[in-house]
This record gives sequence, structure tokens and C-alpha cells, in this order.
Amino acid sequence: MIEIENLSKSYRSASGNVTPVLKGISLQVQAGSITAVVGPSGAGKSTLAKCISLLERPDSGSIRVNGNDLSLLSGVALRRERRAIGTVFQSSALLGRKTAWQNIALPLEYLGVVERDIHARVGELLESVGLSHKAQAYPAQLSGGQRQRIGIARALALRPSVLLADEATSGLDPQATDSVLKLLRQLRDDYRLAIVLITHEMDVVRTTADAVAEIREGEIVQSGALKTLLAQP
Ligand code: ADP
Ligand code: ADP
Repeated sequence: MIEIENLSKSYRSASGNVTPVLKGISLQVQAGSITAVVGPSGAGKSTLAKCISLLERPDSGSIRVNGNDLSLLSGVALRRERRAIGTVFQSSALLGRKTAWQNIALPLEYLGVVERDIHARVGELLESVGLSHKAQAYPAQLSGGQRQRIGIARALALRPSVLLADEATSGLDPQATDSVLKLLRQLRDDYRLAIVLITHEMDVVRTTADAVAEIREGEIVQSGALKTLLAQP
């Protein structure tokens, strides 16, 4: 599970002005559960995503994964623990000159996993995203939904316990969106992943989230189980 506590982040402009962007965000996602983070443009969703994927360091607060505070780490320890969180972005950013298979293998190669284990693991991952038959396809030969599913397979290569999906279905047609969301629900159930789903699409929330946190101007203004929130007038 991931536990975000009292996370704050400001940006300082060249002229020295400090703009608070996240003001004490707290959020928990249990293993086997999907929490959607929603909110208007400028609310701080991408900044939160960057903090969760450990690309930005918060000014204060903690990000614990299975009890381990990742926001305190740096250097080798950060690189080691970062693998606890897999990330998939809006455009999955696959390398165009590499096949689906090779793209999924990348994080394993960086880590120095032996070739035989890479082959076994990539095979498993392709199967779990339903794209074994596309192993040799290049990204340009895949549909948008298939590219995102390969991106998800790559994000899962190092067996994270948390998956951050940052606008992962934005720009996809409804059918592709459905295939990606169905996969996320399946991964939640099969691997007991804690999934943080950052989205501005309400349909995504309704079909896929177990819980919702609404962020406005850097603060959580509303959160709870999807059923409870939808039941409100
Ligand atoms: P959202 O993803 O919800 O649209 P963002 O996290 O992108 O929100 O942005 C929240 C606020 O932080 C915005 O006002 C934005 O202008 C500001 N902001 C984001 N990134 C930076 C940055 N690198 N430097 C300064 N301000 C930033
Ligand atoms: P490289 O390090 O250049 O990717 P590999 O030996 O890992 O070399 O793989 C060579 C080629 O064979 C790659 O293009 C890869 O896509 C393909 N390949 C290797 N193993 C498998 C597999 N189990 N299923 C499908 N394709 C595979």
C-alpha cells in the first residue's frame, strides 16, 4: 500500500516568488484497490504524480510504500526503492526503435537481470497484458490502447506494489480506454496492486475507481469510497 502524509510542495520563480502547489496532501491506497485523483487543471495533480514517482522531491511530508518512507531517500537507496512504484504516463513513451518485447525488457536490463530471467519475465508480462502476439511489433505498429498496455507491462517489470497511472487513458478512443481500464482492474485483483489513477475523465472514475480524492488548489477537498461520493446529491 501507499500512504502519502501531509505532502507539501512549492515552486520558486526566478524572481523569488514562492507558489505553494501542494498544501498538505494526505492520501492512502490499499493493496488491491484503485484510488482516482481528480480535480481541475492547475489543481496540482501532475505535481503530485511527480512526487509519487519520485521525480520531484516534496518540501515536506512523507510517501510510504509498505511502511518504507521513500521521500527521505536519495542516491543508491532511492534508485533501489524507486522500483516499488511503477508509472505509466499519458503517452506511454515507448522507444520507437525497439519492439514491444525490448521495451518491456529495458528496466530489467538496466537492473542487470540475467538474460534467461529477462526472457521469462517479459514473456509473463506480455501474457498478463494480453499482447503475447505483439512481442515483435514496434510501437508505431500498435494501436494506442496496445501501446499503453505495453507501457503498463514495462511499468510492472520490476514487480512494484504501487502503480501510478497518470492520465493513462487521455487521448484514447473509448474502446482503447476500456481495454486499458479493464487491464488495470485485472492487475488490481490479480497482483493486489495499489493503483493511483490520476485522471480528469469522470467516466474513468465511475467505471474503475474504488475510492476518489478530489484535489483543488493543492488541497484534498473531498475523498472517500466511490459509492459514497456518487450517492451524494
Ligand atoms: P494539474 O496537473 O492538476 O493541472 P499541476 O501540478 O500541473 O496541476 O500544476 C499546479 C500548479 O503548479 C499550477 O499553478 C502550475 O502553474 C504550477 N506549477 C507546476 N509546475 C511548476 C513548475 N515547475 N514551476 C512553477 N510552477 C509550476
Ligand atoms: P536485445 O538485447 O538486443 O533485445 P535479446 O537477446 O534480448 O536481444 O532479444 C533478441 C530479439 O529476440 C529481440 O528483438 C526480442 O524482441 C526477441 N525475443 C527474445 N526473446 C523473446 C521471447 N521470449 N519472445 C519474443 N521475442 C523474443
